[in-house]
Amino acid sequence: MKEYNSSFFNFSRDEKQLLSAADVIKRNYPRRPLACVRTFGCQMNVSDSEKIKGVLELIGYGMTEDVESADFIIFNTCAVRDHAEQRVLGNIGALKRLKAENPGLLIAICGCMPQRPEVIERIRRSYHYIDIAFGTNMIHRLPELIARRLETGRRVIVTGLNDKLVVEGLPAVRDFDYKAWLPIMYGCNNFCTYCVVPYVRGREVSRKPEDIIEDAKRLVDSGAKDITLLGQNVNSYDGGISFAELLRRVNEIDGDFMIRFMTSHPKDCGEELLSAMAECGKVERHLHLPVQSGSDRILKAMNRKYTVGGYLELIGKAKRLMPDISLTSDIIVGFPGETYEDFCGTLDVVKKVRYLSLFTFIFSPRDGTPAAEMPDPVSREEKGRWFSELIEAQDGISKELCAEMIGKKYRVLCTGEGRKPGFMAGQTSGGQVIEFPGEGRLTGRFIDVSADRLSDVVEGSIIK
Ligand code: SAH
Ligand code: SF4
Repeated sequence: MKEYNSSFFNFSRDEKQLLSAADVIKRNYPRRPLACVRTFGCQMNVSDSEKIKGVLELIGYGMTEDVESADFIIFNTCAVRDHAEQRVLGNIGALKRLKAENPGLLIAICGCMPQRPEVIERIRRSYHYIDIAFGTNMIHRLPELIARRLETGRRVIVTGLNDKLVVEGLPAVRDFDYKAWLPIMYGCNNFCTYCVVPYVRGREVSRKPEDIIEDAKRLVDSGAKDITLLGQNVNSYDGGISFAELLRRVNEIDGDFMIRFMTSHPKDCGEELLSAMAECGKVERHLHLPVQSGSDRILKAMNRKYTVGGYLELIGKAKRLMPDISLTSDIIVGFPGETYEDFCGTLDVVKKVRYLSLFTFIFSPRDGTPAAEMPDPVSREEKGRWFSELIEAQDGISKELCAEMIGKKYRVLCTGEGRKPGFMAGQTSGGQVIEFPGEGRLTGRFIDVSADRLSDVVEGSIIK
């Protein structure tokens, strides 16, 4: 076990906070107030937003998708790239008018952005209409923060790392009955030189295996068919048992459901995990293994702690153990100092691995990270050309992989309506989406389908 001395807090026993916040809210609104939760960024944020909704319902809010009719609007934000931050600020800027028309409207920002001092500075200076700002791992304090804002009339800003605390017992309102997110750990210890996550989410803490198993059982009992175990680097899960062992225990839970997990770091992904994947029938045949770059020099500068050769060896092992496995990856184009030759190494990896799909990003400098200080001579236009070359290479591979599926039978989990009228969409164990004639009542059910035509297979269709 790592020596992070994590402490555990059970939200469901914090009745005093809940009752007092519910009381304040009742006194402040003539009718049941409505909350609108907007989510940006990764699955951890999607999962956090489900908990935010759960907590808000508990203290008396109803939910709406419409900002115009909301009494409380909350943005759960991502700080990984500048583009994501600008989108959030643009969205919040657009609410100035609503706030002017309805001074009773409360606007909050939470998640990764408020953990960055530069962002808090901007909020203090230029976004006077933001009422509440709070950082990561503070959802359990939301009732108290809202109550404080309503009672004092003053804006409430609470940020800072709170990373030794594991909060259990938060309720969640799931976006889909059949699909559930299950965080197993929080934070990250890896400090990849480009990445802001360790600064905004703090060090790794793992949940206890018994709490995770209990949650998983409850989710299966409540109809979840697709459970994704979440962490920034699930391979370094350390709750007294390894991640591979945890997978085996979740796999043993009775019921017909599928287990996914995200994200795996190549430096910690080994045979133990691959064997567990191969042996556990409920674990999907999909591995998201971000390579980031296909150049050893750049990987070193990124502090990724593996080589291209080591990565490809791992992929080889995965394919030998699970010939039907689908692979996906994250790639950064234009890391500082990257040359076209380095980039060609990335293209080479993409062609060798044959990913089902890629999540591709142009390097975005983040204040406070080592990479933001590195010389970065290549122009944005040049990086854009490399980026397009990568997308084109991947498109060709995705098309070939789709074509290979034609005529084969698959067991899919029906995820809802397809693109064509009268068609439903279903996800294979490898994460590929197949469309088939069907109707709404199939959503959330496993069914056997065959991919008859190329148009039935949705290209590169992994849902990350
Ligand atoms: N913990 C996960 C996800 C981290 S963020 C992992 O390690 O894979 C998701 C992806 O965003 C990263 O994998 C990386 O490809 C990309 N990313 C992170 N910081 C970035 C930056 N500064 N510029 C561009 N892309 C970045
Ligand atoms: Fe960021 Fe690297 Fe941690 Fe992923 S492993 S969250 S990329 S620092």
